[in-house]
Amino acid sequence: MSSLDREPLPAVFVGHGSPMNALDDNRYTRAWRDFATTFRRPRAVVAVSAHWYIGATAITTMDRPKTIHDFYGFPPELFAVDYPAPGSAAIAGEVIDALAGFWVGRDVDSWGIDHGTWSVLVHMYPDADVPVLQLSIDATKDAEYHIDLGRALEALRHRGILVMGSGNIVHNLGLIDWEKPDQGYDWAREFNQAAHDVLTTDPGAVTRLVEHPEYRRSVPTPEHLLPSFYLAGMAAAAGRPLERIVDGFSYGSLSMDSYVLR
Ligand code: ZN
Repeated sequence: MSSLDREPLPAVFVGHGSPMNALDDNRYTRAWRDFATTFRRPRAVVAVSAHWYIGATAITTMDRPKTIHDFYGFPPELFAVDYPAPGSAAIAGEVIDALAGFWVGRDVDSWGIDHGTWSVLVHMYPDADVPVLQLSIDATKDAEYHIDLGRALEALRHRGILVMGSGNIVHNLGLIDWEKPDQGYDWAREFNQAAHDVLTTDPGAVTRLVEHPEYRRSVPTPEHLLPSFYLAGMAAAAGRPLERIVDGFSYGSLSMDSYVLR
């Protein structure tokens, strides 16, 4: 039986939060780990991480993507994390084929696996034995472009490839309150609820969030929200809404919600 005959894989948007989640065991990391047990092993993970936000859409193609520690001010044990998953030029070719009509660059040596991806995958696939590719977010494009890419990526889940967006629905580092380790500001919760309402009912309309009165405070820069737009596009293409698998806030202004497309 070929992979095309089988049930499509789910897809997931993960609220990754602090890089320290890589080392922690909490209800978010347990939700990510448990999610990975609900479906068969993918042929590869294609990750759209908030932390590869550049001037083009590109896919990593190297056989041995490096582990990127793209943060500062964290303890040495976090910098010591290595996630030695292989890459796959062949899978990169499948992604490029799925995105026919869009320009997609082939990255041979600039990126690798950033913490938006590995801080989650260390929980989902701790043996680092599933090939991992990253697809960059083109910072020059409008919201509809990212949804359209998501629509095209929906084909990958029928080919045994797990698409994972990694960001945060609400992400305002400037307003972090260390006194609120597990709470969200009222305004952040309001925006987060609006995101929940559209993602779980009419994901193709997710761009309406840009008009929300709390958008600017919740999304001061778009790179952490945009990975959810890829999932929204996939859900629209699949004709079904997203389901939230875990919710919560960290430090007032970080939404930790994760969503799946089943
Ligand atoms: Zn991040």
